[in-house]
Amino acid sequence: MSVRVRIAPSPTGNLHIGTARTAVFNWLFAHNQQGKFILRVEDTDKERSKPEYTENIKSGLEWLGLNWDEGPFFQTERLDLYHQAIQTLIDKEFAYPCYCTSEELDEMREKQKANNQAPRYDNRHRHLTPEQIAEFEAQGRKPVIRFKIDDGQEIAWNDLIRGKVRWQGSDLGGDMVIARASDDNLIGQPLYNLAVVVDDMDMSISHVIRGEDHIANTAKQILLYQALGGTVPDFAHTPLILNTEGKKLSKRDGVTSINDFRKMGFVAPALVNYMTLLGWTSPDGEEIFSLDEAAGKFSLDRVNKAGAKFDWDKLDWLNGQYLHNMPTEELLTALIPYWQEAGYGIDVDAHRDWLLELTALTATSLTRLTDGVEEVALFFADKITLSSEAQEFVTQDGVRDVIEGVISATKSGLTEEEIKGIIKQVTKDLKVKKGLVMRSLRAGLTGALHGPDLIQTWLLLNRKGIDKARLESLFQSLS
Ligand code: GLU
Repeated sequence: MSVRVRIAPSPTGNLHIGTARTAVFNWLFAHNQQGKFILRVEDTDKERSKPEYTENIKSGLEWLGLNWDEGPFFQTERLDLYHQAIQTLIDKEFAYPCYCTSEELDEMREKQKANNQAPRYDNRHRHLTPEQIAEFEAQGRKPVIRFKIDDGQEIAWNDLIRGKVRWQGSDLGGDMVIARASDDNLIGQPLYNLAVVVDDMDMSISHVIRGEDHIANTAKQILLYQALGGTVPDFAHTPLILNTEGKKLSKRDGVTSINDFRKMGFVAPALVNYMTLLGWTSPDGEEIFSLDEAAGKFSLDRVNKAGAKFDWDKLDWLNGQYLHNMPTEELLTALIPYWQEAGYGIDVDAHRDWLLELTALTATSLTRLTDGVEEVALFFADKITLSSEAQEFVTQDGVRDVIEGVISATKSGLTEEEIKGIIKQVTKDLKVKKGLVMRSLRAGLTGALHGPDLIQTWLLLNRKGIDKARLESLFQSLS
Protein backbone atom coordinates (compact mmCIF):
# COMPACT_ATOMS: atom_id res chain seq x y z
CA MET A 1 0.00 0.00 0.00
CA SER A 2 1.41 3.37 -0.90
CA VAL A 3 1.39 5.85 1.93
CA ARG A 4 -0.54 9.04 1.30
CA VAL A 5 -1.09 11.54 4.09
CA ARG A 6 -2.41 15.06 4.18
CA ILE A 7 -2.54 18.27 6.12
CA ALA A 8 -5.97 19.82 5.86
CA PRO A 9 -5.97 23.29 7.41
CA SER A 10 -9.00 25.54 7.45
CA PRO A 11 -7.95 29.03 6.32
CA THR A 12 -9.77 30.76 9.15
CA GLY A 13 -6.59 32.08 10.73
CA ASN A 14 -2.83 32.19 10.28
CA LEU A 15 -0.84 28.93 10.34
CA HIS A 16 -1.26 27.70 13.90
CA ILE A 17 1.47 25.96 15.88
CA GLY A 18 -0.84 22.94 16.36
CA THR A 19 -1.51 22.64 12.64
CA ALA A 20 2.18 23.12 11.87
CA ARG A 21 3.14 20.35 14.31
CA THR A 22 0.52 18.05 12.74
CA ALA A 23 2.04 18.93 9.36
CA VAL A 24 5.51 18.05 10.72
CA PHE A 25 4.38 14.58 11.82
CA ASN A 26 2.60 13.97 8.51
CA TRP A 27 5.63 15.13 6.54
CA LEU A 28 7.99 12.96 8.59
CA PHE A 29 5.76 9.93 8.24
CA ALA A 30 5.37 10.43 4.47
CA HIS A 31 9.11 10.82 4.00
CA ASN A 32 9.90 7.86 6.23
CA GLN A 33 7.55 5.68 4.19
CA GLN A 34 8.47 7.08 0.76
CA GLY A 35 4.90 8.29 0.59
CA LYS A 36 3.17 11.47 -0.49
CA PHE A 37 2.26 14.52 1.59
CA ILE A 38 -0.78 16.40 0.33
CA LEU A 39 -2.03 19.91 1.13
CA ARG A 40 -5.78 20.38 1.19
CA VAL A 41 -7.35 23.69 2.11
CA GLU A 42 -10.66 23.16 3.89
CA ASP A 43 -12.32 26.41 2.95
CA THR A 44 -16.00 25.48 2.86
CA ASP A 45 -16.77 27.89 5.71
CA LYS A 46 -17.19 30.91 3.46
CA GLU A 47 -17.67 33.50 6.18
CA ARG A 48 -14.53 32.67 8.12
CA SER A 49 -12.17 31.54 5.35
CA LYS A 50 -9.93 34.23 3.86
CA PRO A 51 -7.44 34.07 0.97
CA GLU A 52 -4.81 35.86 3.08
CA TYR A 53 -4.94 33.03 5.61
CA THR A 54 -4.45 30.50 2.81
CA GLU A 55 -1.39 32.47 1.72
CA ASN A 56 -0.12 32.63 5.28
CA ILE A 57 -0.55 28.87 5.71
CA LYS A 58 1.23 28.10 2.46
CA SER A 59 4.12 30.46 3.09
CA GLY A 60 4.42 29.24 6.69
CA LEU A 61 4.66 25.60 5.60
CA GLU A 62 7.20 26.57 2.95
CA TRP A 63 9.23 28.59 5.45
CA LEU A 64 9.35 25.57 7.75
CA GLY A 65 10.52 23.37 4.88
CA LEU A 66 7.32 21.29 4.85
CA ASN A 67 6.95 21.08 1.10
CA TRP A 68 3.93 19.19 -0.20
CA ASP A 69 3.86 16.73 -3.07
CA GLU A 70 0.32 17.37 -4.26
CA GLY A 71 -2.09 20.27 -3.97
CA PRO A 72 -3.08 22.65 -2.65
CA PHE A 73 -6.58 21.35 -3.29
CA PHE A 74 -9.44 23.61 -2.29
CA GLN A 75 -12.69 22.19 -1.00
CA THR A 76 -14.67 25.06 -2.49
CA GLU A 77 -13.58 23.79 -5.92
CA ARG A 78 -14.85 20.30 -5.16
CA LEU A 79 -18.44 20.98 -4.09
CA ASP A 80 -19.91 18.78 -6.83
CA LEU A 81 -18.16 15.76 -5.38
CA TYR A 82 -19.66 16.38 -1.93
CA HIS A 83 -23.12 16.94 -3.38
CA GLN A 84 -22.90 13.67 -5.30
CA ALA A 85 -21.88 11.83 -2.13
CA ILE A 86 -24.73 13.39 -0.17
CA GLN A 87 -27.17 12.40 -2.91
CA THR A 88 -25.83 8.84 -2.81
CA LEU A 89 -26.34 8.73 0.96
CA ILE A 90 -29.92 10.01 0.57
CA ASP A 91 -30.64 7.52 -2.23
CA LYS A 92 -29.34 4.65 -0.10
CA GLU A 93 -31.36 5.92 2.86
CA PHE A 94 -28.27 6.55 4.95
CA ALA A 95 -29.28 10.20 5.03
CA TYR A 96 -32.49 12.20 5.03
CA PRO A 97 -33.80 15.75 5.08
CA CYS A 98 -34.54 17.17 8.52
CA TYR A 99 -36.91 20.14 8.69
CA CYS A 100 -36.55 21.05 12.34
CA THR A 101 -36.49 24.77 13.00
CA SER A 102 -33.88 26.24 15.29
CA GLU A 103 -36.66 26.95 17.82
CA GLU A 104 -37.60 23.28 17.84
CA LEU A 105 -33.98 22.24 18.28
CA ASP A 106 -33.52 24.76 21.12
CA GLU A 107 -36.62 23.47 22.84
CA MET A 108 -35.35 19.88 22.49
CA ARG A 109 -32.04 20.82 24.11
CA GLU A 110 -33.71 22.76 26.91
CA LYS A 111 -35.78 19.69 27.79
CA GLN A 112 -32.70 17.46 27.72
CA LYS A 113 -30.89 19.90 29.96
CA ALA A 114 -33.77 19.97 32.41
CA ASN A 115 -33.66 16.16 32.55
CA ASN A 116 -29.88 16.17 33.04
CA GLN A 117 -29.32 14.58 29.65
CA ALA A 118 -26.51 15.36 27.24
CA PRO A 119 -27.72 17.51 24.35
CA ARG A 120 -28.40 15.49 21.23
CA TYR A 121 -30.67 15.40 18.22
CA ASP A 122 -33.47 12.93 18.92
CA ASN A 123 -33.71 11.75 15.30
CA ARG A 124 -37.33 12.92 15.14
CA HIS A 125 -37.36 13.51 11.38
CA ARG A 126 -35.79 10.19 10.48
CA HIS A 127 -39.03 8.65 9.35
CA LEU A 128 -41.13 11.49 7.94
CA THR A 129 -43.99 10.48 5.66
CA PRO A 130 -44.28 12.07 2.21
CA GLU A 131 -47.28 14.03 3.56
CA GLN A 132 -45.27 15.45 6.45
CA ILE A 133 -42.50 16.41 4.06
CA ALA A 134 -44.99 18.09 1.73
CA GLU A 135 -46.40 20.05 4.64
CA PHE A 136 -43.01 21.28 5.84
CA GLU A 137 -42.15 22.25 2.28
CA ALA A 138 -45.44 24.11 1.98
CA GLN A 139 -44.55 26.00 5.15
CA GLY A 140 -41.39 27.11 3.36
CA ARG A 141 -39.04 25.20 5.66
CA LYS A 142 -35.62 24.41 4.19
CA PRO A 143 -34.12 21.10 5.32
CA VAL A 144 -30.63 20.24 6.44
CA ILE A 145 -29.40 16.76 5.51
CA ARG A 146 -28.72 14.38 8.38
CA PHE A 147 -26.70 11.17 8.33
CA LYS A 148 -28.14 8.33 10.41
CA ILE A 149 -26.13 7.28 13.43
CA ASP A 150 -27.46 4.27 15.27
CA ASP A 151 -27.19 4.44 19.01
CA GLY A 152 -26.69 0.74 19.61
CA GLN A 153 -23.43 0.31 17.72
CA GLU A 154 -19.83 0.49 18.82
CA ILE A 155 -17.26 2.14 16.58
CA ALA A 156 -13.70 0.99 17.22
CA TRP A 157 -10.35 1.43 15.55
CA ASN A 158 -6.71 0.69 16.23
CA ASP A 159 -5.22 4.11 16.62
CA LEU A 160 -1.54 4.10 15.66
CA ILE A 161 -0.75 6.33 18.63
CA ARG A 162 -3.46 5.61 21.18
CA GLY A 163 -4.10 1.90 20.60
CA LYS A 164 -7.66 0.59 20.63
CA VAL A 165 -10.23 3.40 20.71
CA ARG A 166 -13.94 2.64 21.16
CA TRP A 167 -16.92 4.94 20.78
CA GLN A 168 -20.56 4.21 21.43
CA GLY A 169 -22.96 5.32 18.74
CA SER A 170 -25.12 6.81 21.48
CA ASP A 171 -22.30 9.23 22.38
CA LEU A 172 -22.21 10.86 18.96
CA GLY A 173 -25.13 13.24 19.47
CA GLY A 174 -27.72 11.59 17.25
CA ASP A 175 -28.05 11.80 13.48
CA MET A 176 -25.52 14.33 12.27
CA VAL A 177 -25.94 17.20 9.87
CA ILE A 178 -23.83 16.70 6.76
CA ALA A 179 -25.23 19.56 4.67
CA ARG A 180 -26.68 22.92 5.65
CA ALA A 181 -30.08 24.09 4.47
CA SER A 182 -30.21 25.85 1.16
CA ASP A 183 -32.63 28.52 -0.05
CA ASP A 184 -32.85 27.17 -3.56
CA ASN A 185 -34.16 23.65 -2.93
CA LEU A 186 -30.74 22.16 -3.60
CA ILE A 187 -28.44 20.45 -1.14
CA GLY A 188 -26.76 23.20 0.89
CA GLN A 189 -23.18 23.68 2.01
CA PRO A 190 -21.57 20.33 2.91
CA LEU A 191 -20.13 20.14 6.40
CA TYR A 192 -16.71 19.17 7.64
CA ASN A 193 -17.13 15.46 8.40
CA LEU A 194 -18.72 14.70 5.05
CA ALA A 195 -16.27 16.73 2.97
CA VAL A 196 -13.25 15.24 4.77
CA VAL A 197 -14.36 11.68 4.13
CA VAL A 198 -15.18 12.32 0.48
CA ASP A 199 -11.78 13.97 0.01
CA ASP A 200 -9.81 11.38 1.93
CA MET A 201 -11.45 8.66 -0.15
CA ASP A 202 -10.97 10.53 -3.41
CA MET A 203 -7.34 11.31 -2.61
CA SER A 204 -6.66 7.72 -1.47
CA ILE A 205 -5.42 8.89 1.90
CA SER A 206 -3.91 5.89 3.66
CA HIS A 207 -3.24 7.44 7.08
CA VAL A 208 -5.06 10.27 8.79
CA ILE A 209 -2.67 11.86 11.28
CA ARG A 210 -4.29 14.76 13.15
CA GLY A 211 -4.87 16.25 16.58
CA GLU A 212 -6.64 14.32 19.31
CA ASP A 213 -9.40 16.95 19.34
CA HIS A 214 -10.73 15.13 16.25
CA ILE A 215 -11.29 11.75 17.94
CA ALA A 216 -15.09 12.06 18.08
CA ASN A 217 -15.07 13.16 14.43
CA THR A 218 -13.14 10.02 13.57
CA ALA A 219 -15.91 7.83 14.96
CA LYS A 220 -18.45 9.69 12.83
CA GLN A 221 -16.21 9.60 9.78
CA ILE A 222 -15.71 5.83 10.01
CA LEU A 223 -19.49 5.47 9.70
CA LEU A 224 -19.44 7.69 6.63
CA TYR A 225 -16.65 5.63 5.02
CA GLN A 226 -18.70 2.52 5.57
CA ALA A 227 -21.87 4.06 4.15
CA LEU A 228 -20.02 5.38 1.10
CA GLY A 229 -18.25 2.07 0.54
CA GLY A 230 -14.79 3.53 1.12
CA THR A 231 -11.73 1.91 2.66
CA VAL A 232 -11.28 3.21 6.17
CA PRO A 233 -7.76 4.66 6.51
CA ASP A 234 -5.52 4.16 9.52
CA PHE A 235 -5.86 6.85 12.14
CA ALA A 236 -3.26 8.39 14.42
CA HIS A 237 -4.31 11.08 16.89
CA THR A 238 -1.47 13.29 18.05
CA PRO A 239 -1.34 14.75 21.56
CA LEU A 240 -2.31 18.35 22.18
CA ILE A 241 0.30 21.01 22.77
CA LEU A 242 -0.01 22.28 26.33
CA ASN A 243 1.19 25.49 27.97
CA THR A 244 3.33 25.51 31.11
CA GLU A 245 0.19 25.16 33.26
CA GLY A 246 -0.79 22.00 31.39
CA LYS A 247 -3.69 23.66 29.53
CA LYS A 248 -4.11 23.66 25.77
CA LEU A 249 -1.77 26.26 24.24
CA SER A 250 -3.98 29.12 23.16
CA LYS A 251 -4.03 32.77 22.16
CA ARG A 252 -3.72 33.68 25.81
CA ASP A 253 -0.18 32.28 25.79
CA GLY A 254 0.79 35.12 23.49
CA VAL A 255 1.90 33.05 20.54
CA THR A 256 -0.07 30.70 18.43
CA SER A 257 0.80 31.34 14.84
CA ILE A 258 4.05 30.48 13.13
CA ASN A 259 4.33 34.18 12.25
CA ASP A 260 4.54 35.03 15.94
CA PHE A 261 7.48 32.69 16.41
CA ARG A 262 9.18 34.08 13.36
CA LYS A 263 8.80 37.64 14.62
CA MET A 264 10.21 36.59 17.98
CA GLY A 265 13.46 35.64 16.27
CA PHE A 266 13.21 31.88 15.97
CA VAL A 267 14.69 30.35 12.83
CA ALA A 268 12.78 27.77 10.80
CA PRO A 269 15.14 24.77 11.26
CA ALA A 270 15.13 25.27 15.05
CA LEU A 271 11.38 25.71 15.25
CA VAL A 272 10.66 22.71 13.07
CA ASN A 273 13.21 20.67 15.05
CA TYR A 274 11.46 21.71 18.25
CA MET A 275 8.02 20.81 16.88
CA THR A 276 9.35 17.36 15.98
CA LEU A 277 10.13 16.89 19.67
CA LEU A 278 6.67 18.02 20.75
CA GLY A 279 5.31 14.57 21.45
CA TRP A 280 7.92 12.44 19.68
CA THR A 281 11.23 11.08 20.92
CA SER A 282 13.97 9.84 18.68
CA PRO A 283 14.97 6.18 19.26
CA ASP A 284 18.62 7.20 19.69
CA GLY A 285 17.85 10.03 22.12
CA GLU A 286 19.19 12.67 19.69
CA GLU A 287 17.53 16.06 19.95
CA ILE A 288 19.07 18.10 17.18
CA PHE A 289 18.29 17.04 13.65
CA SER A 290 17.11 18.30 10.30
CA LEU A 291 13.72 17.26 8.96
CA ASP A 292 15.38 14.74 6.65
CA GLU A 293 17.37 13.23 9.51
CA ALA A 294 14.25 13.03 11.68
CA ALA A 295 12.31 11.43 8.81
CA GLY A 296 14.85 8.61 8.73
CA LYS A 297 14.05 7.73 12.35
CA PHE A 298 10.39 8.70 12.60
CA SER A 299 7.67 6.28 13.58
CA LEU A 300 4.22 6.87 15.01
CA ASP A 301 4.73 4.33 17.79
CA ARG A 302 7.21 6.72 19.39
CA VAL A 303 4.62 9.52 19.57
CA ASN A 304 3.32 9.99 23.11
CA LYS A 305 -0.30 9.79 24.08
CA ALA A 306 0.04 12.40 26.80
CA GLY A 307 -0.13 16.10 25.98
CA ALA A 308 3.16 17.73 24.97
CA LYS A 309 4.22 20.62 27.20
CA PHE A 310 5.56 23.61 25.37
CA ASP A 311 9.00 24.30 26.82
CA TRP A 312 10.26 27.78 25.97
CA ASP A 313 13.70 27.17 27.49
CA LYS A 314 14.21 24.19 25.26
CA LEU A 315 13.09 26.06 22.16
CA ASP A 316 15.46 28.91 23.07
CA TRP A 317 18.29 26.45 23.61
CA LEU A 318 17.69 24.79 20.26
CA ASN A 319 17.42 28.13 18.49
CA GLY A 320 20.72 29.21 20.04
CA GLN A 321 22.35 26.01 18.82
CA TYR A 322 21.18 26.67 15.28
CA LEU A 323 22.29 30.30 15.37
CA HIS A 324 25.74 29.44 16.76
CA ASN A 325 26.31 26.85 14.04
CA MET A 326 24.88 28.80 11.15
CA PRO A 327 27.26 29.87 8.38
CA THR A 328 28.02 33.58 8.92
CA GLU A 329 26.63 34.58 5.51
CA GLU A 330 23.32 32.91 6.33
CA LEU A 331 23.17 34.41 9.79
CA LEU A 332 23.85 37.88 8.40
CA THR A 333 21.02 37.46 5.90
CA ALA A 334 18.73 36.42 8.75
CA LEU A 335 19.78 39.36 10.94
CA ILE A 336 19.56 42.13 8.35
CA PRO A 337 15.75 42.53 8.47
CA TYR A 338 15.88 42.87 12.26
CA TRP A 339 18.67 45.43 12.03
CA GLN A 340 16.87 47.35 9.34
CA GLU A 341 13.69 47.36 11.39
CA ALA A 342 15.66 48.71 14.33
CA GLY A 343 16.68 51.63 12.11
CA TYR A 344 20.39 50.82 11.87
CA GLY A 345 21.33 52.46 8.58
CA ILE A 346 22.87 49.51 6.78
CA ASP A 347 24.25 49.53 3.28
CA VAL A 348 24.69 45.80 2.86
CA ASP A 349 26.54 45.92 -0.43
CA ALA A 350 28.98 48.61 0.58
CA HIS A 351 29.82 47.13 3.99
CA ARG A 352 29.36 43.42 3.48
CA ASP A 353 32.73 42.39 4.93
CA TRP A 354 32.31 44.62 7.95
CA LEU A 355 28.80 43.26 8.56
CA LEU A 356 30.03 39.69 8.24
CA GLU A 357 32.69 40.33 10.86
CA LEU A 358 30.14 41.98 13.11
CA THR A 359 27.89 38.92 12.69
CA ALA A 360 30.71 36.53 13.51
CA LEU A 361 31.55 38.60 16.60
CA THR A 362 28.06 38.42 18.06
CA ALA A 363 26.92 34.98 16.84
CA THR A 364 27.76 33.06 19.99
CA SER A 365 25.81 35.41 22.25
CA LEU A 366 22.54 35.01 20.35
CA THR A 367 19.59 32.94 21.51
CA ARG A 368 17.04 34.54 19.21
CA LEU A 369 17.64 36.69 16.15
CA THR A 370 15.98 39.55 18.02
CA ASP A 371 18.88 39.48 20.51
CA GLY A 372 21.04 40.57 17.58
CA VAL A 373 19.45 44.01 17.69
CA GLU A 374 20.59 44.80 21.22
CA GLU A 375 23.92 43.03 20.77
CA VAL A 376 25.07 45.27 17.94
CA ALA A 377 23.40 48.52 19.03
CA LEU A 378 26.74 49.97 20.13
CA PHE A 379 28.13 49.63 16.61
CA PHE A 380 25.39 51.81 15.17
CA ALA A 381 24.85 54.34 17.95
CA ASP A 382 25.92 57.94 17.36
CA LYS A 383 26.70 58.34 21.02
CA ILE A 384 26.98 55.82 23.79
CA THR A 385 25.96 56.24 27.38
CA LEU A 386 27.93 54.59 30.14
CA SER A 387 26.25 51.92 32.22
CA SER A 388 26.21 52.77 35.92
CA GLU A 389 28.88 50.16 36.52
CA ALA A 390 31.07 51.65 33.78
CA GLN A 391 30.39 55.16 35.06
CA GLU A 392 31.66 54.20 38.48
CA PHE A 393 34.66 52.45 37.03
CA VAL A 394 35.89 55.34 34.88
CA THR A 395 36.13 57.69 37.84
CA GLN A 396 38.96 55.68 39.34
CA ASP A 397 42.59 56.73 39.11
CA GLY A 398 44.42 55.93 35.97
CA VAL A 399 41.49 55.62 33.56
CA ARG A 400 41.89 59.15 32.20
CA ASP A 401 45.60 58.63 31.52
CA VAL A 402 44.93 55.31 29.81
CA ILE A 403 42.35 56.90 27.52
CA GLU A 404 44.69 59.81 26.78
CA GLY A 405 47.49 57.39 25.91
CA VAL A 406 45.29 55.32 23.66
CA ILE A 407 43.90 58.36 21.85
CA SER A 408 47.36 59.58 20.94
CA ALA A 409 48.29 56.18 19.49
CA THR A 410 45.03 55.62 17.60
CA LYS A 411 44.76 56.18 13.89
CA SER A 412 42.43 55.04 11.19
CA GLY A 413 42.97 51.66 9.56
CA LEU A 414 44.40 49.89 12.62
CA THR A 415 45.23 46.20 12.31
CA GLU A 416 44.65 43.63 15.02
CA GLU A 417 48.40 43.54 15.67
CA GLU A 418 48.55 47.31 16.01
CA ILE A 419 45.67 47.32 18.46
CA LYS A 420 47.41 44.71 20.59
CA GLY A 421 50.60 46.80 20.32
CA ILE A 422 48.85 49.95 21.57
CA ILE A 423 47.39 48.10 24.56
CA LYS A 424 50.81 46.69 25.42
CA GLN A 425 52.55 50.04 24.99
CA VAL A 426 50.08 51.99 27.15
CA THR A 427 50.27 49.33 29.86
CA LYS A 428 54.05 49.59 29.84
CA ASP A 429 54.30 53.38 29.61
CA LEU A 430 51.83 54.01 32.44
CA LYS A 431 53.02 51.04 34.49
CA VAL A 432 49.47 49.90 35.07
CA LYS A 433 47.82 46.53 34.95
CA LYS A 434 46.59 45.30 31.56
CA GLY A 435 43.14 44.78 33.11
CA LEU A 436 42.83 48.50 33.79
CA VAL A 437 43.67 49.32 30.18
CA MET A 438 41.23 46.75 28.82
CA ARG A 439 38.38 47.87 31.05
CA SER A 440 38.99 51.55 30.39
CA LEU A 441 38.96 50.88 26.70
CA ARG A 442 35.85 48.79 26.88
CA ALA A 443 34.06 51.49 28.85
CA GLY A 444 35.17 54.17 26.40
CA LEU A 445 34.35 52.21 23.27
CA THR A 446 31.18 50.42 24.29
CA GLY A 447 29.86 52.14 27.42
CA ALA A 448 29.83 48.84 29.31
CA LEU A 449 32.30 46.65 31.20
CA HIS A 450 31.18 43.42 29.56
CA GLY A 451 30.59 42.42 25.99
CA PRO A 452 32.04 40.69 22.97
CA ASP A 453 35.76 40.32 22.29
CA LEU A 454 37.34 43.74 22.88
CA ILE A 455 40.03 43.64 20.21
CA GLN A 456 37.52 42.65 17.53
CA THR A 457 35.07 45.25 18.80
CA TRP A 458 37.69 47.98 18.58
CA LEU A 459 38.75 46.79 15.16
CA LEU A 460 35.21 47.04 13.84
CA LEU A 461 34.62 50.45 15.42
CA ASN A 462 37.92 51.64 14.00
CA ARG A 463 36.94 50.49 10.53
CA LYS A 464 33.74 52.46 10.91
CA GLY A 465 35.80 55.47 12.04
CA ILE A 466 34.00 56.01 15.33
CA ASP A 467 36.48 54.69 17.90
CA LYS A 468 38.51 57.84 18.40
CA ALA A 469 35.52 60.13 18.85
CA ARG A 470 34.15 57.82 21.54
CA LEU A 471 37.42 57.76 23.43
CA GLU A 472 37.73 61.54 23.13
CA SER A 473 34.26 62.04 24.46
CA LEU A 474 35.07 59.90 27.53
CA PHE A 475 38.36 61.76 27.98
CA GLN A 476 36.60 65.12 27.94
CA SER A 477 34.05 63.97 30.47
CA LEU A 478 36.89 62.99 32.80
CA SER A 479 38.87 66.22 32.36
N1 GLU B 1 -9.86 21.31 8.71
C1 GLU B 1 -9.63 20.49 9.86
C2 GLU B 1 -8.83 21.29 10.88
O1 GLU B 1 -8.22 22.28 10.50
C3 GLU B 1 -8.87 19.27 9.44
C4 GLU B 1 -8.98 18.13 10.33
C5 GLU B 1 -8.50 16.87 9.65
O2 GLU B 1 -7.28 16.75 9.51
O3 GLU B 1 -9.34 16.08 9.26
O4 GLU B 1 -8.82 20.97 12.05
